Amino acid sequence: MPTKFIIVTGGVISGVGKGISTSSIARILQEYGFKVTAIKIDPYINVDAGTLRPTEHGEVWVTDDGGEIDQDLGNYERFLGFTLPKINNITTGQIYKELIDRERRGEFLGQTVEVIPHVPNEIRRRLMKAAEGYDIAVVEVGGTVGDYQNLPYLFAAKGLELELGADHVATVLVTYLPVPGNIGEMKTKPTQQAIRMLNEAGIFPDFVLCRAPEPLDEVRKKKLETNANIKAEHVISAPDVDSIYQVPLNFEKEQLGSKLLKRLRLAARKQPDWSGWKALLHSIEEPKHHLKIAIVGKYVDIGNYTLIDSYISIREALVHASAHVAAKAEIAWVDAKEYEKDPKKAGGLRAYAGVIVPGGFGAGGVEGKIAAVRFCRENDIPYLGLCYGMQLAVVEFARNVCGLQGAQTTEVDPKTPHPVIDLQPAQRTMMEQSLYGGTMRLGAYAAVLKEKSKVFGLYRQTSRLKEDQMQLRKLEKFRLGVLGDATSVVLERHRHRYEVNPGYVEALEKHGLVFSGYHQRDDGTKLMEYIELPDHPFFVGTQAHPEFRSRLEKPSPLFYGFLRACVDAGKRKKGRPGRT
Ligand code: GLN
Repeated sequence: MPTKFIIVTGGVISGVGKGISTSSIARILQEYGFKVTAIKIDPYINVDAGTLRPTEHGEVWVTDDGGEIDQDLGNYERFLGFTLPKINNITTGQIYKELIDRERRGEFLGQTVEVIPHVPNEIRRRLMKAAEGYDIAVVEVGGTVGDYQNLPYLFAAKGLELELGADHVATVLVTYLPVPGNIGEMKTKPTQQAIRMLNEAGIFPDFVLCRAPEPLDEVRKKKLETNANIKAEHVISAPDVDSIYQVPLNFEKEQLGSKLLKRLRLAARKQPDWSGWKALLHSIEEPKHHLKIAIVGKYVDIGNYTLIDSYISIREALVHASAHVAAKAEIAWVDAKEYEKDPKKAGGLRAYAGVIVPGGFGAGGVEGKIAAVRFCRENDIPYLGLCYGMQLAVVEFARNVCGLQGAQTTEVDPKTPHPVIDLQPAQRTMMEQSLYGGTMRLGAYAAVLKEKSKVFGLYRQTSRLKEDQMQLRKLEKFRLGVLGDATSVVLERHRHRYEVNPGYVEALEKHGLVFSGYHQRDDGTKLMEYIELPDHPFFVGTQAHPEFRSRLEKPSPLFYGFLRACVDAGKRKKGRPGRT
């Protein structure tokens, strides 16, 4: 069966929730027994999101195959539960780059290369390629209808319908219905106008998903039917929710899944079973424990709104883990700079159940982060170090336990007497030639775990060990490295340049730091992937970004272990006389 497409566009305002709507639609159809994928179109000229400022555009999402792409792909994975490759993010930059490269190679044989038909043809070619092998592809068109930038994509969607037939392409418009304070009534006019704007591009939406502060009533649905020629039962209520994982259930209350299948002339392959999903949602909504978690980072020039978007995968990984330990994790964003001048201030971290130092780049806030690590290590506070957070934990341990004064990462101090975190020699040569692009370790890499370590235990308990074994076979050889004992190998994604300096591993181990996993390159170099302290309630760091492989139904082993340790630490505290 050729793939069927569902094109999702957005109207009225940006940030209307197209990403979550797309993820939810895909997840619903998956529940009906179909093989579903999701594709994101970004109408910007950047070739990928690797160079976009996270504080402006949100987090850079990393794929298994090393793509640095739009964060919406993260939502798709979190809902769909499997990994998507980088070709599932199409940008205007990619389209033009491809066409110009081909033109320069003379592949157009003297033709004039034009916006029509070459751009939509290339868009369709990429869509078909990403959709290959799937029953249904849900395609999110970035931007808002009426933007110049997304016109070629709407045109291409129309072309797809022409090529495949009307039964193969359905369109969905996600809009916003405001309830102005002075009127107190939900208004449909902006939605009517967004529909009309979509009509101008030749597209009549099959469904309108109506985001609003509250559910849509029948009167509003009828009003849209009368004024915009869309059947009332195809107007779907999408009220604001506390948890994004509620959205597929809300859509299903309006039978969106079966209506979409009917529109695409598909018969359900199985009856949906949402019981597992609902149980997890219940655990999120009615937690047994409340935990305050500090995320200590470098937060410069970031307003409250963009902050969460820059660390969205970490936040979601905490939500997923919290659903499995029945605890709500409330995040406090703590600026590492606060501890720079006076490291004693890190004592304030005692107020938190656990501390995370997330990924980061550059020297800003580094000494503050190191002070936070030290306080957690010395005071038995659960600590999770992600990428930079692991590197700085190694620096802290080297300085304060191994007595290596002035130990540092060469990212901050290239002249440090103890470069415990450093570039690999091959990278240094490339950096000297300003070839920064090739110096990042990007995408999924295999790590061999120490069988008796805490980290290994967590990957086994959360059944990730088994799952990763299956996925391993699909990886390119260089990411696998030399696997050693294949039964203790796991996969996580990476996005960094610096590594634990192999020359210091022995000294660090001698003082009690356990390296619980490594990646071995073909040339025999071992790159340290995990650290842990055996006598600490939970002190774990990883060179990877495990947040990228966390899903509601399958939490990240390290986030799960971290939150479980936070819950246990809370119980111990309560049990101790004289302490609250
Ligand atoms: N700055 C560090 C490096 O490049 C860590 C990067 C990160 O945390 N993603 O190695």
